[in-house]
Amino acid sequence: SPGRTGKLLISILLSYSDLTDSALSVFAICIPYDQTCFKCLTREDHQDDSSNPRPLPALNDTNFFAKFLIHGDIMPSLMRNADPCTARGCKWRKKGRYVYVPFTIASDFTTEQCDIILKAIVQFHRSTCIRFVWRRKQVDYLHFFSGTGCWSYIGRQGKQQKISLQKNGCVYTSTVQHEVLHALGFHHEQVRSDRDSYVKIHFGNIRPGQSSQSHLEDTNNLGTPYDFNSVMQYPNYAFSKNGLPTITARCNPNLPLGCAKQISRNDIARVNRLYKCSK
Ligand SMILES: [Zn+2]
Repeated sequence: SPGRTGKLLISILLSYSDLTDSALSVFAICIPYDQTCFKCLTREDHQDDSSNPRPLPALNDTNFFAKFLIHGDIMPSLMRNADPCTARGCKWRKKGRYVYVPFTIASDFTTEQCDIILKAIVQFHRSTCIRFVWRRKQVDYLHFFSGTGCWSYIGRQGKQQKISLQKNGCVYTSTVQHEVLHALGFHHEQVRSDRDSYVKIHFGNIRPGQSSQSHLEDTNNLGTPYDFNSVMQYPNYAFSKNGLPTITARCNPNLPLGCAKQISRNDIARVNRLYKCSK
């Protein structure tokens, strides 16, 4: 209901006293409307579409997306190789102590779904120097919308950068945070350069065409350990073709994976290290 969103936003404001003035005013613009959060955002929605240089296909072109998605939900940049890009400029920019990530939310979502998205991203404010702010005139920003499946680009791409959260199936705290972590520059846990010491990939059980989800990446692990509780860890049966596990922990093959309900301590530590939050 409208009242609930208003209360949520107010409670967000109260719990994040370290928000800067500008961030505060940006978050505050929702409250006077006392409606759903997306109502506040539709004014600027899609404003930049005409200037978006990326030749993205129609959003209902499922085949196109299936062809180009790697690791299940990562949209590779059509403009440049995005992997690993964080050393080459795809981090979000830091101003003073904070890294501001402007965003908009499409009107696709219900009030409740919008609340979930907002709560999920605001969790980063509590433990990192990332600050999500409603987009006003900023050129580079994230745009959450309901596309085909849940997917994200890796790292900052420039201009409007879409994150797809399909209405039925992707609007959960863990999924929102997972896709946001991609956009902040992070890969899946099971493609970490050191993963073979921690997990076993059962390639024989992976559906044909999906094994790219398990190719190793040359990741910067930021001194953090492999984390089975990372929100970036895929579940045991991801992309299984036969009902058997595709990924198991070496220390305990029965350990359930991919159960994180929200960002883990290591996910937080990595954001803080990549973005040098303590400096
Ligand atoms: Zn992913």
